[in-house]
Amino acid sequence: MTSFNELNISSRILDAIESVGYETTTPIQERTIPVALKGRDVLGLAQTGTGKTAAFTIPILQKLINSDGQSIKALIIAPTRELADQINETVQQLSKYTKLKSLTVYGGVNKKPEVTRLQRRVDILIACPGRLLDHLKEKSLHLNDLEMLVLDEADTMFDMGFLPDITKILTYLPKKHQSLLFAATMPKPIKQLTDKIFDSPETIQIGTIKPAQTVSHHLYPINEKMKKDALLKILNSTATGQILIFTRTKFRTKKVFADLDKNNFRVVALQGNMSQNKRMQSMNGFKQGKYDILVATDIASRGIDVSNVTHVINYDMPTTVDTYIHRIGRTGRASKEGEAYTFMLPEDSGMVKRIEKVLGENIEKRFLEDFNYGDMKVFDSPKQLHKSNRFKRQTNFKKTSTKHSRTRNQSKNHRPSSKS
Ligand code: AMP
Repeated sequence: MTSFNELNISSRILDAIESVGYETTTPIQERTIPVALKGRDVLGLAQTGTGKTAAFTIPILQKLINSDGQSIKALIIAPTRELADQINETVQQLSKYTKLKSLTVYGGVNKKPEVTRLQRRVDILIACPGRLLDHLKEKSLHLNDLEMLVLDEADTMFDMGFLPDITKILTYLPKKHQSLLFAATMPKPIKQLTDKIFDSPETIQIGTIKPAQTVSHHLYPINEKMKKDALLKILNSTATGQILIFTRTKFRTKKVFADLDKNNFRVVALQGNMSQNKRMQSMNGFKQGKYDILVATDIASRGIDVSNVTHVINYDMPTTVDTYIHRIGRTGRASKEGEAYTFMLPEDSGMVKRIEKVLGENIEKRFLEDFNYGDMKVFDSPKQLHKSNRFKRQTNFKKTSTKHSRTRNQSKNHRPSSKS
């Protein structure tokens, strides 16, 4: 860890860093900032929650600080609107004592205001691939003077099928520019992309590619039809800060949201069918603590950065290991502790093995006490059922969230659990 003062950056940026409360660099920042400031291409292998946004934002601001403001000089491409907004928030916070201006462009919102805004000063553009490509084709923006390109969560962009769009976007860029790419995992097509765009990059890998060490993992073997009751059981006996629940589909997100709402939890949903406005409202409401629980699909959740998320619950098993890493990267952020609970159906055992391989550890199985498992054979492996891994200890939860040690039912605005 280094002090930001040692990094040769302008006092205008240092003052902004101080105002957001960062005292020392995170490891990815310590290693990325000096290399990027020298103009080198960077391949950053870092999980989410490591501080990578500031790791690329600070060099961008430093390099552009005296920019003429005539054209876009830095482009940050991100997979989702939420992540784009999140990045823009960091860019705006850290550039507040400079003249630099940033803008986000992404689908799902009216294009006209973006076009109007693009006619004014924009130094740093944060964009999702589809809408950016539209603007390029329609010539409502150009990237002829681009100096720095960042591809953030490149593995997610690949998962979401954005690689062809990105390849097209690259054809609009000047030959000479600096590239930085960040990913938590490195699927082959991303590796091929980096081979194409990079000029002898510096590879910076923070730890192994696995989730933040501050997260502990637990599996709940269960049947599909018990998930709702098991979730209620967990929520009712868990003392936590904020909880993120992931489901596999928009429909299931709506359903879980409705179940919890009916049970008087302070809950909000986030899924791709909602308008951008509604998505922002959900996200902001959760961030501001208006809600204790956010139920989300994977796509909608990419940019979530709420530092008090103490628990991530995988209501449905993620379909890839990368998705698991991204999901649980939403807790245990910036060195806070977090817990990841995953409901495991019998058919999920293959995925669990793959996740365990990446984590380098077996995930502890827990069983809910006083819960009706019916005739489900969750206990078919007696070795798994040790006293220590049964779900029973409130104190455990309290330890991880001293700030939020109320249980759900004691929650300040929590209404009693029957609506009568
Ligand atoms: P990121 O990995 O960029 O999504 O950042 C994860 C979280 O870490 C965000 O909430 C940041 O505000 C926070 N963060 C980033 N850099 C630092 C730092 N140097 N010190 C403390 N917190 C930081």
